[in-house]
Amino acid sequence: MKYYVNDSCIGCGLCAGTCPEVFSMSDSGVAVAIEAEVPAKVLDSAAEAHEGCPVGAIEEV
Ligand code: SF4
Repeated sequence: MKYYVNDSCIGCGLCAGTCPEVFSMSDSGVAVAIEAEVPAKVLDSAAEAHEGCPVGAIEEV
């Protein structure tokens, strides 16, 4: 399981707050996801971030 942040991200920061192990804010103000597989111990919080994105910018890869 991996996640990808698409171009519709509005930079609200919610995902990085919910699951900082996977999502972080880039210098350009939008979120990025780690390229590696999501660690098992943060699968739940990563899924919560996925579902909580207000613009649906987080995609499963
Ligand atoms: S929750 Fe969605 S819109 Fe907000 S920073 Fe994360 S990817 Fe971007």
